Amino acid sequence: MTVTPSLTTVDAPLGVQSYHTELTQERRLVTAIPGPLSTAMHARRTAAVAAGVSSTLPIYTADAGGGVIVDIDGNSLIDFGSGIAVTSVGNAAPLVSAAVAEQAAHFIHTCFMVTPYEGYVAVAEKLNALTPGSHAKRTALFNSGSEAVENAVKIARTATKRQAVVVFDHAYHGRTSLTMALTAKAMPYKKGFGPFPGEIYRVPMSYPFRDSGISGKEAAARAISMMDKQIGGSEIACVIIEPIQGEGGFIAPADGFLSAISEYCAANGIVFVADEVQSGFCRTGQWFASDFEGIVPDLVITAKGIAGGMPISGVTGRADLMDAVHPGGLGGTYGGNPVACAAALGAIQTMEALNLNAAALSIEAAAVPRLKALAAETGKIGDVRGRGAMLALEFTVAGSLEPDPATATAVAKACHAEGVVILTCGTYGNVIRLLPPLVIGAKLLSEGLDVLEAAVRRC
Ligand SMILES: *Cc1c(COP(=O)(O)O)cnc(C)c1O
Repeated sequence: MTVTPSLTTVDAPLGVQSYHTELTQERRLVTAIPGPLSTAMHARRTAAVAAGVSSTLPIYTADAGGGVIVDIDGNSLIDFGSGIAVTSVGNAAPLVSAAVAEQAAHFIHTCFMVTPYEGYVAVAEKLNALTPGSHAKRTALFNSGSEAVENAVKIARTATKRQAVVVFDHAYHGRTSLTMALTAKAMPYKKGFGPFPGEIYRVPMSYPFRDSGISGKEAAARAISMMDKQIGGSEIACVIIEPIQGEGGFIAPADGFLSAISEYCAANGIVFVADEVQSGFCRTGQWFASDFEGIVPDLVITAKGIAGGMPISGVTGRADLMDAVHPGGLGGTYGGNPVACAAALGAIQTMEALNLNAAALSIEAAAVPRLKALAAETGKIGDVRGRGAMLALEFTVAGSLEPDPATATAVAKACHAEGVVILTCGTYGNVIRLLPPLVIGAKLLSEGLDVLEAAVRRC
């Protein structure tokens, strides 16, 4: 089946040649948010679904595509979340939907560990080609970001015959037992869920807004000194870092930080692992955020944006490390499922065909001047940061570094009520993050920012 992205919308996506969606690309509110049907559905959900699973905005989805989410009441909301940086190619993107349908009509599962199939191999080849560095690489596929992080640790420990794992302040690596321990924030991710696995060490991150004048090199020296003195470089299996932190607050380390950490790892036989689960696949205007500093991680972890919404994740890295694990040591029943692999190939083809790296940079160029002006005008935003279409506003008490989570929460709620799906994040809960689909139209992006600006002025 051949599907070509086609233009059926008047709202031309920023920097994008063409894309297709059945849904009118507009913000349209026909009820209060959430509306009566969503409210009724929510009551049904509360009686059936565990309370620990919560939703940012309980409008129940009927349709989604391009830059909008349509709920069961008929409201059409602007999507600034992409299901947490997942549907970067747009929801139900034509090449992804077609690839999924085609694959599902042939076979849905065999288990790659039982009888393999080409899709898995093709995704591995793509990841080997797209991730930083031209050295020999291998890939293993899994289902979720957390599962891939766990497997990166298994690989690093086997390859180095060492145990210690180093992570950073504000890090987020998942919710499984091991990855919860790697994650920094207690509430809601860790509280009450211990005990946690051992041999995990946390060192300070470079957080330019809160680091007052410390350079990337100095921040790296601070972290390296802790590794050296408190763990010992020869004991460390791997250092895991998000090149731009996600849940922790979209923190981009100061220039020179990542390269200094990477050099320390190389000099000490430590596996340098880039967790690109949130920052990968065109989100920052590059295939991977590691590309900005030209660092070449030993292992790269991917998930979220890789497959337009189908669950799949990967660990890609140096062939000698990846192949150090004994046959049968890596895998899982569903890892690299054929339908998810087809989706990944469709999503990557979409990113290439529509040049979504350029689209992410266009979103940055359109949004950042407005956000900076808003910060200057209102005094409520201490920092505007991020790269490409991974942008954040950190709310602080005017003229200080004191986090202001109340305003961030109020602004997010006000945006929801006005039909813009927006997410918060940050260790202090005071960051609003923008993660629009990279195919969002220029008008829709601008209208979403209008709503956000009005909300910040009002709250
Ligand atoms: C979301 C995320 C994970 C975990 O991925 P899941 O698919 O939710 O398990 C890991 N690392 C980073 C950086 C993430 O943003």
